[in-house]
Amino acid sequence: MANVGVLDKVDKLERGEQLRRDGIIIRTWDLMKTYVMGDQTIHAVAGVDIEIHKGEYVAIMGPSGSGKSTLMNLIGCLDTPSAGLYYLNGKLVSDMDDDELARIRNKEIGFVFQTFNLLARATALHNVELPLIYSGIPSKERIERAKLALKEVDLTERMNHKPSELSGGQRQRVAVARALVNNPSILLADEPTGALDTATGVEIMALFARLHQRGNTIVLVTHEHDIALHAHRVIHIRDGKVERDERVEHPIGEKT
Ligand code: ADP
Ligand code: MG
Repeated sequence: MANVGVLDKVDKLERGEQLRRDGIIIRTWDLMKTYVMGDQTIHAVAGVDIEIHKGEYVAIMGPSGSGKSTLMNLIGCLDTPSAGLYYLNGKLVSDMDDDELARIRNKEIGFVFQTFNLLARATALHNVELPLIYSGIPSKERIERAKLALKEVDLTERMNHKPSELSGGQRQRVAVARALVNNPSILLADEPTGALDTATGVEIMALFARLHQRGNTIVLVTHEHDIALHAHRVIHIRDGKVERDERVEHPIGEKT
């Protein structure tokens, strides 16, 4: 990463501590992801500066191909930037080793995807248990925590069902329970309502509102205006750049 050399070790640490003091959980400087395909260069993320505080509910909105998923994958440490700086929880991500990155992806960040990404052969309970298996949590505690997470998404009655025996909305709720079971600092959701009908989508958004009210930090990626307006802040992106960053006065579904 080009700019890292400019910061010496002390600067890096101080910057991270300052971010932590300010409650800033996500901070990027000139973040970039460039793909080279033959003689074509695609600037999927083309210099993004964003700052997200602990407890915020932010939507990243933009048309298809604007770089939303690429940005989300960078924020979720699923992908490595081509250039720029990214501090997560006050730590420079490019300085983390593979073990630390794996730990962060498993414990600090909960992911929800459009297509649910559940194990087809496993029950809802087992799907939710999986991140805890990777974390080395003993079986008894795993089951207790997975049941609790399923209770939070109102799926206690369905915990022994496999994904094929559940509706789309129920599957996505299993995915949300799986994302939350490790008590992550951030919930990242990429088009979580994209595969659902409108009514079911509204149900999932109501669940997100509840999670936010309980103190979770949520970053929601969507191309739909109506979905973005459930968040408290919308970052509009276009051609890999931030176009506009605005507060939502009255988020949809917010309890007053
Ligand atoms: P969005 O999620 O907003 O629809 P993406 O982040 O998926 O957008 O893609 C942004 C741009 O980067 C698009 O032009 C897409 O074709 C390109 N892109 C995404 N991933 C890759 C990849 N792995 N290789 C090459 N180009 C990619
Ligand atoms: Mg996408």
